[in-house]
Amino acid sequence: DGTATSTEKYEGICRHDIVVGNILGEGFFGEVHDGIYTSPTGDKICVAIKTCKDCSADVKEKFLSEADLMKNLDHPNIVRLIGVIEVDPVWIVMELYEHGELGNYLVKQQYNLTTATLILYCVQICKALAYLEGLNMVHRDIAVRNVLVASPKCVKLGDFGLSRYIDEQEYYKASVSRLPIKWMAPESINFRRFTTASDVWMFGVCIWEIFSMAQQPFFWLENGQVINQLESGVRLHKPQLCPPTIYSLLTRCWAYEPHGRPSFSQLFCLLGDIHRMELEQEQCP
Ligand code: ADP
Repeated sequence: DGTATSTEKYEGICRHDIVVGNILGEGFFGEVHDGIYTSPTGDKICVAIKTCKDCSADVKEKFLSEADLMKNLDHPNIVRLIGVIEVDPVWIVMELYEHGELGNYLVKQQYNLTTATLILYCVQICKALAYLEGLNMVHRDIAVRNVLVASPKCVKLGDFGLSRYIDEQEYYKASVSRLPIKWMAPESINFRRFTTASDVWMFGVCIWEIFSMAQQPFFWLENGQVINQLESGVRLHKPQLCPPTIYSLLTRCWAYEPHGRPSFSQLFCLLGDIHRMELEQEQCP
C-alpha cells in the first residue's frame, strides 16, 4: 500500500537536523527559506523550507495537503519532497533548486538559451505531466512560475498546491477563486471543470510562455475578457522563437473541446521527435 510506504519513507526527518538559511521568497502560506539538511546517513542536502505563518488547524491542513500529494510522487522532473515536520512550526522540506523559477531564469538567460534547450524544457515538463496523467492526478497550475530549474539542462515541475486526485472519467470541481484565468481552458473558466485535458491546455500556455521568454499570456487583456476571446476562436499567437512544428502542437492543445486535445503521452512522443530534429540541426547546421 503506497500510503504506508510513504509514511515510513518520510518519518525520519527531525527539525534539529536542519540548519535554516536565507529567505528565498514569499510563498502563499509564508516565507520559503533555503537551508541544509543532514540525513540519518550523514549526507548534507541543500533544501528549501516552506513555512506556514498562520497555523490554525484548517490553514495547516491546506498547507500540508501539497506535501501529502508530493509524498506519493517520484519522478526526475518533479520537485522532490524530503520530508515534513508536522508539529508547530510546521515545515515542508524539499530539495533545493538553486537556479530558481523557470520564468525568472528565462528572462535572465534569454540570450544563452538555444531553441533545442527550450524544447528540452517542454519535453521534461511533458514527461512529468505524462507521469501525473498515469496517476490520475490533475495539476491545475502549470506555468513557468511553477517550474524550477535544477541545472541548465534539467527542470522540475513543482507547486502541487492546487493538485488533486481525480477518479477516472471524473473531474475536480474547484471552489477557490485564486485561479490562473489566463492559463485556463474554457471549460475550467466557465464551469470550474479540471481534467487531464484541461492540464493539456495549460501546458500549451506554459510552452507559449517558454518561447515568449516568460511574457504573461494575454497580458493585453483583463481576466474578465479572456473567455470571450477564446470563445470567438482567438488563441495566443506564435512567439517569434517558437518553431512552427511546436506551434502546430499548441493549436491542438487549445482545441475548444477537451476531447479534441492530445494526451500527455502523445505529446511526449511528438515533442521528443521535434527535440531530436532540432538537436541534429544545431549540431550540423
Ligand atoms: P507557494 O506555492 O506557497 O506560493 P512557492 O512555491 O511559490 O510558494 O515558493 C515561494 C518562493 O520560493 C518562490 O520564489 C520559489 O522560487 C522559491 N522556492 C520554492 N521551492 C523551491 C525549491 N525547491 N528550490 C528553490 N526555490 C524554491
